[in-house]
Amino acid sequence: MALPLMKNFVNGEWIDSTSAVRGDVWNPALGEKIAEVPYGNKEDVDKAVEAAKAAFPEWRATPPLTRARYLFRLKDAFEENFEEIARVLTTEQGKVIDEARGEVRRMIENIEHATGVTTMMTSYALEDIAKDIDCSGHRQPLGVFAAIVPYNFPGMVAWWFLPYALVSGNTFIVKPSEQVPMTQTKIFEIVEEIGFPEGVVNMVHGSKDTVNAMLDHPDIKGISFVGSTPTAKYIYQRCGETGKRVQSLGGAKNVVTIMPDANLDKAMPSLITSFFGCAGQRCLSGSILAPVGDIYEEVKGRFLEAAKNMKVGNGLDESVAMGPVGSKAHMEKILGFIEKGVEEGAELLLDGRGFKVDEYPNGYFVGPTIFDNVNPDMTICSEEIFGPVVSLVNPQNLDEVIELINSRQFANASCIYTQSGAVAREFKYRANPSMIGLNIGIAAPMSFFPFGGYGNSFFGDIKGHGREIFQFYTDMKVVIERWF
Ligand code: NAD
Repeated sequence: MALPLMKNFVNGEWIDSTSAVRGDVWNPALGEKIAEVPYGNKEDVDKAVEAAKAAFPEWRATPPLTRARYLFRLKDAFEENFEEIARVLTTEQGKVIDEARGEVRRMIENIEHATGVTTMMTSYALEDIAKDIDCSGHRQPLGVFAAIVPYNFPGMVAWWFLPYALVSGNTFIVKPSEQVPMTQTKIFEIVEEIGFPEGVVNMVHGSKDTVNAMLDHPDIKGISFVGSTPTAKYIYQRCGETGKRVQSLGGAKNVVTIMPDANLDKAMPSLITSFFGCAGQRCLSGSILAPVGDIYEEVKGRFLEAAKNMKVGNGLDESVAMGPVGSKAHMEKILGFIEKGVEEGAELLLDGRGFKVDEYPNGYFVGPTIFDNVNPDMTICSEEIFGPVVSLVNPQNLDEVIELINSRQFANASCIYTQSGAVAREFKYRANPSMIGLNIGIAAPMSFFPFGGYGNSFFGDIKGHGREIFQFYTDMKVVIERWF
């Protein structure tokens, strides 16, 4: 039986890509090919931009509340299709079904937040800035925007951006990750039902050539990017060269600190989720576990026990705690990091290599992996692994913790477990990462707060969602007026 070939959604229609280059889409739990995706070319991008550009004047002139009403309807339609979206997501990405449900929930929350446009897009005015002269600011949409997104959140990440861009009057193009194009395709089938005006919202599948065509296109006004740091840097630089607005979110290496006074009974479940949820493939995942001083041995013992008892398997099985990693290539990369850790002298307490799940012998599984005696300079403690691999380090006090965190090239998120308000205050004041968890293992801002990091984890100034995103998608026109 022929496998499905993904189509682009342009100008309100499903159309074939004109590119002959295709990639394979895999079910990572089964290690089976399940679909094909075109690697879109310049022609595909041109068509989408042309449609989005043509749709802009009328969409821009549509009252914000009317634009928001499309989102209200979309929210309802997503609720109705909630479980189906989550199942497609797990099938192609691998994460366990409950995490997929959580991702769809977060996606919908962005739609909910964006419907506040009539408050969020308003501006300010002042009379009599000089004798008989008044001044007012007006937030105006700019035209066509695009999002380029990663494989680890196939549903949600595009929706950190799309609802805000649309509701503030812009038109939009999404380029999903070529590794997981089916979830966004499912989502766009629902978008189609809502009946947005043609060209307002579009999707083009593809890989780096597609991205380059977007970066080069003069009619794309801005790019919202999420992915690895090398790509994020590249996108940021190219947008600078071509004069586009850009927000570019990159990789991470997050430290989770356990102070000696932490409530371990309460902390343990969230620690396990932080490090092994989504098989460690979250930009907010814990990667370095830092129990401070004497609590080290107790945390190590309990964490190791909990990790050993995790059920790993097909994410569609409700009883499974951790699914496969996203692809064969990524599995090999993670195994390479584990080798490197051993070579550099870290002690492998729990070895996830060669991990087999009986029912799924071809799946891309890496078991929970824990290294002890890790030196902060080792590769496993410096580079992003993006897998279920934990480095244990043992700082002796808060200063050493802060030194460890602030010496990493990445500064996405950091968490600390303590019962001391003074320690927590010091931590949030001095640690560089932009998303801080206090007695929380995954410091994930909800849609109404900004999402993004610092250092090599973020390039730009306005982050994902939150209030400020309305600034990214609009220009503030200032009118100074005097009437005779
Ligand atoms: P990636 O950088 O390989 O790909 C991301 C997107 O960029 C994809 O759509 C891909 O098609 C495109 N792309 C890839 N290489 C390109 C190139 N050379 N030129 C132009 N475009 C290119 O990232 P990924 O592997 O899909 O995702 C995992 C990464 O994303 C991890 O580093 C993770 O930390 C990061 N991430 C960050 C956040 C955040 O909020 N900071 C959130 C999710 C994921």
